[in-house]
Amino acid sequence: MKRLLASCLVTVLALGLSGCGGISPDQAHESIQTFAMDTAMIFSAYGAGGTEAAYAAEAEVQRLDALLSRTKEDSAVSRLNNAGGGEVELGSEVRGLLETAKTYGEATGGAFDITIAPVASAWGFTEDAYRVPAQAELEQLLQAVGTEHIKLPTADAGGNASTMAALDAGSKIDLGGIAKGYASDRVAEIFRERAVPYGMVSLGGNVWVCGGRPDGKPWRVAIQDPEKSENYAGILNLSDAFAVTSGGYQRFFEENGKTYHHIIDPATGHPAESGLTSVTVVADGSGKTGGGTMCDALSTALFVMGEDKALDFWRSGTCEFELVLVSDDGRVVVTDGLRDAFEEVKESGYAYEFVH
Ligand code: AMP
Ligand code: MG
Repeated sequence: MKRLLASCLVTVLALGLSGCGGISPDQAHESIQTFAMDTAMIFSAYGAGGTEAAYAAEAEVQRLDALLSRTKEDSAVSRLNNAGGGEVELGSEVRGLLETAKTYGEATGGAFDITIAPVASAWGFTEDAYRVPAQAELEQLLQAVGTEHIKLPTADAGGNASTMAALDAGSKIDLGGIAKGYASDRVAEIFRERAVPYGMVSLGGNVWVCGGRPDGKPWRVAIQDPEKSENYAGILNLSDAFAVTSGGYQRFFEENGKTYHHIIDPATGHPAESGLTSVTVVADGSGKTGGGTMCDALSTALFVMGEDKALDFWRSGTCEFELVLVSDDGRVVVTDGLRDAFEEVKESGYAYEFVH
């Protein structure tokens, strides 16, 4: 069995980061890299508060990793998962994130489901011990999957908003599909508090661009070709935006000539086979809170749902976002709101379609 892990999924084409036209030589610029939440991260910030912002952002992501990780024993998530059905005090932040995750689960008809944890473990994605589970094992585990297994009491005995949660016995949660997006929202707040004028943050496949580039142009965010890691399927020219990609190529293993990836369809317990090879969700990143969390939850969910259902969900207007879908039959489908921002890569071999 072979373990393959692609690290950087959405690449910010940062060639212009230093020395490009329009940056005065004394303009402070800090760029730091770290590894957290099982992925490579970059924090890049300009301006007087840039250095402080970049380091504060990195510390914040490490804090969230310790809180939300499923593999760290003392995380809030592990405490909940190991409580054997009992109520656990999570604090308002984690409790709020569970509510948000549940809401996206309901909005996407169950395609996004943080209770997928036992199934993700059965495939070995959590513990890096890859295997193909038997159908009977999956069916048994699926009984514990479904957001109805997450119990969120509305108020405590004194009538205050509850910060507790419980899971039905046998159920566990995995915030891997939403934690990096939530972290990107927190990083955006930290950059704003320090009045960073331009910057760029990449938390694995979760990108947030702050302002435009210092030379006045938009940031160029490249969408990796899921079939050829060294190529791009398209480029997004973005200012003040979140762009989050989910794709089966990001984490997978091969066994007996078949590829199994890490995004599970909660309806089947198997890696989603929806005809999509990647989904990029783009949303406003200029100040409204929650955009990064939304993009992360939706990129995972819409990957499971497939092209038709993903576009129906986009058209429904339930959430405000735009999409770039890459399909396994060689098409790149772009929603109308990205008509000006999206740049085709002619040599990629993909056929490009814009949809209303
Ligand atoms: P992402 O990279 O954001 O698409 O998230 C993928 C990660 O989310 C996986 O590695 C699992 O930890 C978790 N996951 C897998 N399938 C689902 C699903 N259907 N809903 C929610 N989380 C999922
Ligand atoms: Mg996600």
